[in-house]
Formats: sequence, structure tokens, C-alpha cells
Amino acid sequence: MPHIHGSGGGWGRAEALVSCMSTSEKESPGADHREKFTAHQKFGDRREGVTSTRTYFYADEAKCDQHMETFLKCIKASGGSSEDGFSAIKMTALGRPQFLLQFSEVLVKWRRFFSFLAAKQGKDSVEVLEQKLDLEQLQTCLASLGAQGNIQSCFSEGRLHSSGMVDMLGWNRLIDERTKISDLLVVPNLQTGELEPLLSMFTEEEERQMKRMLQRLDVLAKHAVENGVRLMVDAEQTYFQPAISRLTVEMKRIFNKDKAVVFNTYQCYLKEAFDNVSMDVELSRREGWCFGAKLVRGAYMYQERSRAVEIGYEDPINLDYESTNRMYHRCLDYVLEEIQQNKRANVMVASHNIDTVKHTLRRMNEMGLPPTDKKVYFGQLLGMCDQISFPLAQAGFPVYKYVPYGPVNEVIPYLSRRAQENRGIMKGVQMERELLWKELMRRLTSGEVFYTPAV
Ligand SMILES: Cc1cc2nc3c(=O)[nH]c(=O)nc-3n(C[C@H](O)[C@H](O)[C@H](O)COP(=O)(O)OP(=O)(O)OC[C@H]3O[C@@H](n4cnc5c(N)ncnc54)[C@H](O)[C@@H]3O)c2cc1C
Repeated sequence: MPHIHGSGGGWGRAEALVSCMSTSEKESPGADHREKFTAHQKFGDRREGVTSTRTYFYADEAKCDQHMETFLKCIKASGGSSEDGFSAIKMTALGRPQFLLQFSEVLVKWRRFFSFLAAKQGKDSVEVLEQKLDLEQLQTCLASLGAQGNIQSCFSEGRLHSSGMVDMLGWNRLIDERTKISDLLVVPNLQTGELEPLLSMFTEEEERQMKRMLQRLDVLAKHAVENGVRLMVDAEQTYFQPAISRLTVEMKRIFNKDKAVVFNTYQCYLKEAFDNVSMDVELSRREGWCFGAKLVRGAYMYQERSRAVEIGYEDPINLDYESTNRMYHRCLDYVLEEIQQNKRANVMVASHNIDTVKHTLRRMNEMGLPPTDKKVYFGQLLGMCDQISFPLAQAGFPVYKYVPYGPVNEVIPYLSRRAQENRGIMKGVQMERELLWKELMRRLTSGEVFYTPAV
């Protein structure tokens, strides 16, 4: 499973910051300070505090095309080397991050507005999928906020929960009604309920850049289908992630009709991870496409935390490591149950954590999910945790190694930085050394120097 590794090494904070700003922000910086989803001086360099991942900076459209070409080569290589390969992509490599920022803000505000309406109907303390709003009460509430028009007419067949009420998924579908992308950049005003432009409209150039990003995604997904490869969309920072997830769902609607081709990544260090996973699973059931997920803990913890403190919004990360572990296993159990009930779902357990791997094996065993079904995959980084990958593969589980892919002068510094930074992984290396030493001694004492595994 090659992991594309693009260029961008010469980029620093200033250039990265500018690529996250709209034209209007650049003309009057700070005029429209929107806390989390605004490019921020101190966090312009998204590499800071990040351990096991690669950061792309926007240079220009030609550079994005170049990244896309690299992804295409990687997909082809993956298709040529195995029958059921994966290829991982990062959306920030494919366009201007500023679009992802703005779109994320819209999506989050849209969700918050639903929660606000749910609270008005006294449903704020239940799980997000259980928040179902009465349509008439909703109309009354919106009218009392000063909203014009008839919200009931927006909820035609298929937009309502089977109970006849509006839930978050039906609410989110309202955004899809809009065809022009810049029209999405409107948010409901909490005082009036009216939709208002989030920002001054995109310029023609910015709109063109947005469309190019979506076209690149489409080209990649089609190429993946032609080469029999699954496309794994990596998760990135929380201020991009709502848009990344949303665009990934759009691709799933198109490409996951018969099997899971496009996979989204869910970061379980997020407080909202379970809501994200359960909502997408429910959406896949409702719309009839195949759910595909990679579950990770998350790579941007330090950066996320310091940005939240600095800018003054709630820390999106779970309180402590134990809460992240609980969240991972909760999300995983939920997806495994979905696989048990509906054989169309797939999950990759992307972790070096031995307890998580053991937990997965135990649950699969309890639920009667055989490895040969190939619905549950394991993913580790190349050269890391082979003591976990090899026995899993020998036991018949599908195991994938993430392979950084790109020019040597860029891959080597990335790998060495990660090795230095990621103390958790280095502990794994120590364990690997001890295990290798034990195995060497066992072979020497048993006279079986060359191991021949049973076929
Ligand atoms: C195949 C593969 C693909 C990956 N793809 C992505 C990706 O697309 N996006 C991405 O963000 N990451 C990705 N990662 C990295 C991943 O998110 C983790 O950073 C890394 O794997 C370490 O976590 P772990 O589960 O292996 O184990 P562990 O070493 O047990 O967990 C470490 C992780 O726990 C969490 N954590 C640690 N301390 C705390 C704390 N105090 N409070 C809350 N949480 C805490 C952090 O997420 C930390 O990285 C990927 C990893 C692999 C192996």
C-alpha cells in the first residue's frame, strides 16, 4: 500500500498561510476573524508538532496537477503489485487548503445550527443520531427566529427519518440541494434563521481552483476503479477535516455502489469521532452504498491542542490517552457490528497498538467474523511493528504496510524526523529488536537457522 509522498519541502509558514487565505482576507487580514477556520499566523506551518504524517503546502495549480500525477502513478503501481491494493491520498495535496477551511466552517456551522434547533425541542442530551426533530415544531421555531419560507417543503420523500421526523442526516442533505459550490458558502444566522453568505463570494479564480480540486479527486477515483485499487483518503487537521470527510462521502456515493472503493479515515483522538463514524455508517445504510473506513488514533494532537489554546476554541482532542483508546475501541466495535450485520462494510485497523490489534481479533472471534472474509484489514507503517504485521499475515489476515513514496531527498528527512519524534514507535522498535534476538537464539539452539513456515 504505497503512501504518496509529494514535494513542497521548501515551503515555510508565510507561504502556507497565504494559501489558506481568501482574496478578501488577504486584502484586509483579520477583518473576518472566524476562530477555528481562519488561517492563523502562528500555525501557518502545519508540520509543527506533527509526528507520523506528511504535510503538503499549496504552491499553485500546476503543483497540484503534479501531485495528482504522482498519485496516479502510485495507484497504477499498487494495482500492478497486488490484486486488492490500497493507495492513500491527502486532499490538501490536491488544491488550495483555503477551500477546505471555508467549506469545513460551513459544515460545522450547519451541524451546530441543527444542535441548536434540537436543544429548542429539548433533545440536546441524546446521542446525535437519536436527535429527531418534529417538522411542525421546526417550522414554528424557524419562523419565530424570523426565517422566511416553508422548511417543510424542503423535506420531500427520502429526506426524513422513517419516523417522519428530521434528523441530522436529513438536515445535512439540505446542503446538497445547492448546485454551485460557492452557494454552499452560506450559513444560517442563529438570530434570524436566514441563510447568509459566510464570506464575500469566491472570486472566479478561487471558484476555478475549487472545481479543479474536485475534478482531480474524480480522476483519481476513476483511475483507482480501473486499476482495481481502493482509495484511502487520509485524515488531516480538524479545520480541514469536515470538508475532507464530506467530499469523501460524495465520492463514496458515486464509487462505492457495489464494493468499498473509497475509504475515509476517522481519527479516534477526536471527541466527535463516534458521532462521525456512526453518522456515516447510518448514511451508508440509508443510501445503500458500501461503508469503508480506516480507523486511526490521530497524528496532529500537539498542534491541534496548542492551536485551540492559542486561538481560544474548545480542544477537539479527548482528555487523555485512555479516553482515546476507549474511543478507538468504541468506534471499532460499532463498525465490526455493522460488518457482522451488513457484509458490505469494510474497515482498516491502522494502528501499531498491540492491545488494539488483540481487541480486534477477540471481537472478530466472538462475532464469528473469519479473516478470510477480508472485511477487516490491518495497516502499519513500512518497517514498523513487523512483529505485529507478520504473524497477522501468517494467520490469514489481510495486512497492509504504508509505504512512503516519492523522491529520496524528501522521503529520507521525513522518515528520520518521524523516527526521532515518535517515541511510541521507537518503543516498538526496541520490542522488535528484543523479539528478533529471542528468535535468533531459538533458531540457533534448535538448529533451525532457516525458518520454513507451514503452507
Ligand atoms: C497505516 C496507518 C495510516 C495512518 N493514517 C493516518 C491518517 O490518515 N491521519 C492521521 O491523523 N494519522 C494517521 N496515522 C497515524 C496515527 O493516527 C497515529 O498517530 C499512530 O499510528 C500512533 O497511534 P497507534 O494507534 O499506532 O498507537 P499508540 O502509540 O498507542 O497511540 C498514540 C496515539 O494516541 C493518541 N494520544 C496519545 N496521547 C494522548 C493524550 N494525552 N490524549 C489523547 N490522545 C492521545 C494520539 O493520537 C497518539 O498519536 C496512520 C497510522 C498508520 C499506522
